[in-house]
Amino acid sequence: MIARAPSAEELLAALPPLKLFIDNKWVDSDTTEHLEVHSPSTGQLLGKVPHASAADVARAVESARKAWDAWRLTPPFERSAACHRIADRILAHKEMIAGIISLEQGKPYFAEALPEVEESAENFRIAAEDVKRLETPIIPARDPNKRLFTFKVAIGTWGIITPWNFPTVIPSEYFGPGIAAGNTIVFKPAEQTPLAGLFLAQCMAEAELPPGVFNLISGLGPTTGNALVTHPGIDGIGLTGETHTGDTIQRRAGVKKLLMELGGNGPQIVLEDADLPRAAKAAAFGAYFNAGQVCCATERVLVDRRVHKDFLDLVIREARNVRVGDPFHEGIHMGPMNNLPVLEKTERHLADATQKGARIAFGGKRAANHATKFFFEPTVVDNVSSESLLNREETFGPVVPIITVDGYDQAIEFANGTGYGLQMAIFTRDIDKAFYFAERLRSGNVVINDTTDYWEAHEPFGGGGGTSSGYGRLGGRFTFDDMTHLKTVALHINPLKPGC
Ligand code: NDP
Repeated sequence: MIARAPSAEELLAALPPLKLFIDNKWVDSDTTEHLEVHSPSTGQLLGKVPHASAADVARAVESARKAWDAWRLTPPFERSAACHRIADRILAHKEMIAGIISLEQGKPYFAEALPEVEESAENFRIAAEDVKRLETPIIPARDPNKRLFTFKVAIGTWGIITPWNFPTVIPSEYFGPGIAAGNTIVFKPAEQTPLAGLFLAQCMAEAELPPGVFNLISGLGPTTGNALVTHPGIDGIGLTGETHTGDTIQRRAGVKKLLMELGGNGPQIVLEDADLPRAAKAAAFGAYFNAGQVCCATERVLVDRRVHKDFLDLVIREARNVRVGDPFHEGIHMGPMNNLPVLEKTERHLADATQKGARIAFGGKRAANHATKFFFEPTVVDNVSSESLLNREETFGPVVPIITVDGYDQAIEFANGTGYGLQMAIFTRDIDKAFYFAERLRSGNVVINDTTDYWEAHEPFGGGGGTSSGYGRLGGRFTFDDMTHLKTVALHINPLKPGC
């Protein structure tokens, strides 16, 4: 039996203080400015969080830097135990954190928010285990009296800036390895989803992390986020966000260490020999999971002309089965989209596609009879031109755009042609063809015979194509490579005479 979802009243009553979290204390901002957080599914005002000033950011950075001196030298096994305690606290609050995610982000509670919280805890567990096995080479020395050791050591204080589409799983991808490796953190959550971030801060406090190891400052990107990025006390910046945000931050950050997880434009390629029902299910899942607001969503499907008609019919059948509605109701597949800019971008891309000859085969507009305007119909668009925005840019909406291709080279050309290269999928029954594609797709990740939305918490995930999807790897032990640097220690030994 599935337990009932918490009500909005229960969730709001359980919220941590709507304050900044600095030095293990809930503190007021030095300004009176606030940001309102509204639920996209009900329109309800959920709360007002501080819009942290540059002085607030400086306080948080100072606390994190102070904490770093001791935290980096704390034995890895103690840092590992701390990460396990954080995971325990996240799971202890699982229903409440998931409920807040559904309320402020809009994703279905049972199908998506609960699994997100479990994966967030898992990210701390994985880091807790990996840090105990951080092996590094001992390398040969030219000098017979030297021994050369290498160590992975923490970089320092990180500013972590994250988006609204996964309010706890994305932050935890940085926090787990970052904290386990001995870094300290100043976190700026997305303006639309700070409440789930506050719950994460509460878990840190309950896990009894030393003061300053983790700090949270809520606020807007161009103000609070920019103060963090440009603060001289910040050593590294982890950004998950849009490509143009990555571009801005990279220009302003100077020589800080950067880890950039940016936009995607994931194509799913369907060859003539594909398992079509499976490919259609994968495309629908990839486009409608989290209402398409996923960096590795199925942003477009490149279908071989020979199977186009059959594939189209199957995808429409899948779209018909998608239930849109209140994210707290069991059996709902898709809640509202999160905010107006992403909704309007989806509409703009659809209008552009139809102007260029595409046909809306299913859905295509805001869904009627819901509490807010943010609900959108699961949509299938056929005959999409490669010139259209649906092909060229990241849409981030619940849309399956179908682009017909002739031949493998054209499929690869379209797949690689947008500058994005985060995750791509290929459907074929032929392993030789699968690898022909996998080796030619300019992408950090390639999935064979499953959705572009497939990932596991411990796999290395990140951009690998053009520059638009960023660089560095999030996921499992691979994040340690980006959030540490390799320190070499050369030891001089005096040779002893044999027989002494
Ligand atoms: P944005 O880039 O708009 O925002 C991301 C974060 O950056 C937010 O916290 C935002 O603040 C902050 N920010 C914005 N401008 C600045 C600035 N000048 N200085 C410092 N911080 C700034 O992305 P979205 O929130 O719209 O998220 C969606 C994007 O994230 C998509 O492109 C998606 O593909 C990408 N993404 C990538 C993933 C990956 O693994 N590669 C995973 C998930 C998402 P504010 O809240 O005020 O906007």
